[in-house]
Amino acid sequence: MPKAFFVDTSRCTACRGCQIACKEWHDLPTTATKQNGTHQNPPDLNASTYKLVRFSEHRIDGKVEWYFFPDQCRHCLDAPCLEVANGYVEGAVIQDKKTGAIIYTDRCKQLKEDECEEVTEACPYNVPRRNTGTGMMMKCDMCIDRQQAGLIPMCVKTCPTGTMNYGDRADMLAMAEKTLVKVKKEYPRASIVDAKDVNIVYLIQDTPERYYEFVTADNSAVGLPMSRKNFLAGMTKPAKRIFG
Ligand code: SF4
Ligand code: SF4
Ligand code: SF4
Repeated sequence: MPKAFFVDTSRCTACRGCQIACKEWHDLPTTATKQNGTHQNPPDLNASTYKLVRFSEHRIDGKVEWYFFPDQCRHCLDAPCLEVANGYVEGAVIQDKKTGAIIYTDRCKQLKEDECEEVTEACPYNVPRRNTGTGMMMKCDMCIDRQQAGLIPMCVKTCPTGTMNYGDRADMLAMAEKTLVKVKKEYPRASIVDAKDVNIVYLIQDTPERYYEFVTADNSAVGLPMSRKNFLAGMTKPAKRIFG
């Protein structure tokens, strides 16, 4: 049965345990940054940061409110990045049948730089990043090695608040719906994001634009020209270039 995460952002304290644990498990180097007026560090996902706890701060009804979003690859059911990458190099990206994880293979190194850019552009959540040293495309691998060894993903294991949950997809969707009913009592604008399309299912307590521009695939609400529909319409581009 495919696996999924349920990420209840209403419980997230932004401790960043998940972010550090992900780096530690994957033996990823730190990123040199400087203080730029936010606790979000580094400022964005990068080739050695697969998980990033995003911070946004708002003044609402005279009070300061913080919103936290532990961002990562959503492991899409029909992944646009897979379609685009494999249009150039067959087998560059695979979907693990057992878990549903979208995995970037070593064949990604055969993608040219501009093709890698297209892969990133195809992602509705702006996730994959190219390692400029190795040429490899990098992102969360759903801790596939841990799952294959019967262990839960590292960020889930580390989270102390119950924000990160992992299990069979049906169970995670049921947990999301049940939790939403509770959270809505305090936060009426709460919603579940893109559950039909992804295996990393987020609950947000306010509208997506309060978090950041790529919370949902349909980001037209925050003024970006691209929606998931537009991205998917663009997916045939590499195949046309190769075959047509
Ligand atoms: Fe690919 Fe982006 Fe979907 Fe992850 S979120 S599977 S990188 S399209
Ligand atoms: Fe990192 Fe694994 Fe969590 Fe993905 S599932 S964000 S690789 S710890
Ligand atoms: Fe939020 Fe849990 Fe990550 Fe801490 S470990 S930042 S509570 S998701």
